[in-house]
Amino acid sequence: FTTEAGLYTASDQIVILTPDNVDSVLVNSTAALVVEFYASWCGHCIAFSPEWKRLARDIKEWKPAVDLAAIDCANGDNGPICSRFGVKGYPTLKFFHAYSKPDSKGQGFREGPRDVRGLRHKIIEKMETHEEPWPPACPPLETASKAEIDNFFETNGVEHLALIFETSNSYVGREVTLDLLQYENIAVRRVLRTEEALVAKLGVTDFPSCYLYYPSGNFTRLHVQNEARTFYTYALQRLPGVLRAGNTPPVTSDLLKNTTEDQWRPFNGSRVYMADLESTLHYSLRLELAAHPVIKGEALITLQRYISVLAKYFPGRPVVRNLLKSVDTWLKGQNDTELSYSSLRDALDNTAEVPNAALPEGVRWVGCQGSKPHFRRYPCGMWTLFHVLTVQAEEAAGKDPQEVLQAMRSYVHSFFGCQACATHFENMAKDSMSHVGTLSTAMLWLWSRHNHVNNRLAGALSEDPHFPKIQWPSPELCPSCHGVKKSGEHTWNQEELLTFLRSHFSSEHLLSDYLE
Ligand code: FAD
Repeated sequence: FTTEAGLYTASDQIVILTPDNVDSVLVNSTAALVVEFYASWCGHCIAFSPEWKRLARDIKEWKPAVDLAAIDCANGDNGPICSRFGVKGYPTLKFFHAYSKPDSKGQGFREGPRDVRGLRHKIIEKMETHEEPWPPACPPLETASKAEIDNFFETNGVEHLALIFETSNSYVGREVTLDLLQYENIAVRRVLRTEEALVAKLGVTDFPSCYLYYPSGNFTRLHVQNEARTFYTYALQRLPGVLRAGNTPPVTSDLLKNTTEDQWRPFNGSRVYMADLESTLHYSLRLELAAHPVIKGEALITLQRYISVLAKYFPGRPVVRNLLKSVDTWLKGQNDTELSYSSLRDALDNTAEVPNAALPEGVRWVGCQGSKPHFRRYPCGMWTLFHVLTVQAEEAAGKDPQEVLQAMRSYVHSFFGCQACATHFENMAKDSMSHVGTLSTAMLWLWSRHNHVNNRLAGALSEDPHFPKIQWPSPELCPSCHGVKKSGEHTWNQEELLTFLRSHFSSEHLLSDYLE
């Protein structure tokens, strides 16, 4: 057995417990943990695992205060750990306080529905009643009184205080408080409807609703499309001066004096630029592939698929499309079992006999510029290229819904220089790519997996502070893509999303600024 044989992988943002790490994770941790003890052969555990993964994504921002873990008790090496915690049936969920002692068996976590919402609420209840010592990263979750708010800025050095007015059975205030715990310069407090003095002072009539309260005593209502957790969280994370902890404040002038070879190019963040797509092709075809002097076997098939998809669907300038078609024709005519990169490079560059065909040399990042040379650029271009291709495949009435996705999957697997990215992407592809049966679900599959990656990388060192990773598109970019269920849970409106993706990545919508 290995951990890979279990129901979770490193991409799931769930701590995978093993004999080697169990004590360092569970004992004396600064965060509380909820652990799923499961057996990989157990049908209920298999059925529950997608929910546990969804929960991990949903409360990813809470990690410093409370994290999720899992252990496969069917793995022989793990058996003694499961016995030590008294686990007899699967799946069993247990809550471990922060600073748990080595002999702690964890607390039961039984009651309530086992969907994301029910589990999240249960976690909040456990955190609220957390015994001392309190996990240091966890903000106060109790309700605020007028007296506390009146003196708030005397004891808290933040610029923004968000007050969420709600009824006692609502979890929104506590959810948003935890969603913002990794952000500096903002505090969130929940105020109950029964806190009449504050309700009257601010003239609150809707529950829930969110108000921003300032040291001067002034206040304004936070305007959101829906009075619900996700919309408050999106809006509060983007208030001026609010930053993910540890990130230095973005200074616009930084962008101008960055050390890149060329000047910052002003751009519209809600549009896609052809210059990024061409730069991605240049980087992929002239730099990334060049690391493979001989291409054979599976890698050769991958290359053929990739070039074929580009030749069919790349919505570029005629000169670039002609080049891609000529390389595709050349590649299809190669009968050898291996190919040297230098022959591919000749086909790319020596186009004297092919009229009006060329791929511009060099990169000119625009929408994919980063505030520092190590941010964004090529991986941003890669995502954008494949989103565009899934949309183009539908525009061009492609026949095979798997064609573009499989081309991306095998390219990333065989050639994408970031190997950890390739492993994560392959984990997602293995899970669900084969279920994609239409061209529109291919667009949605890539969109949703990209959001999984955004969720995992939010706050990572590779995140450009000027371009924080969000669940995309934001409510500002596509208001109709977002909705709320009766339960108050955020939902994506798939039809609206499809309409948005078709337009955002359509060939007519691509901008040609900064092309040579
Ligand atoms: P990106 O995530 O690159 O997105 C580019 C643009 O696409 C955004 O600016 C936005 O306009 C749009 N966009 C954002 N989300 C969506 C969406 N859901 N659907 C459609 N369009 C969207 N980095 C790691 O550190 N670890 C990894 O494991 C990892 N895996 C990767 C796997 C793949 C296949 C790729 C291509 C990249 C991976 N990266 C990984 C890199 C990382 O995902 C980002 O590409 C990189 O950090 C640059 O981020 P960015 O801010 O430019 O936005």
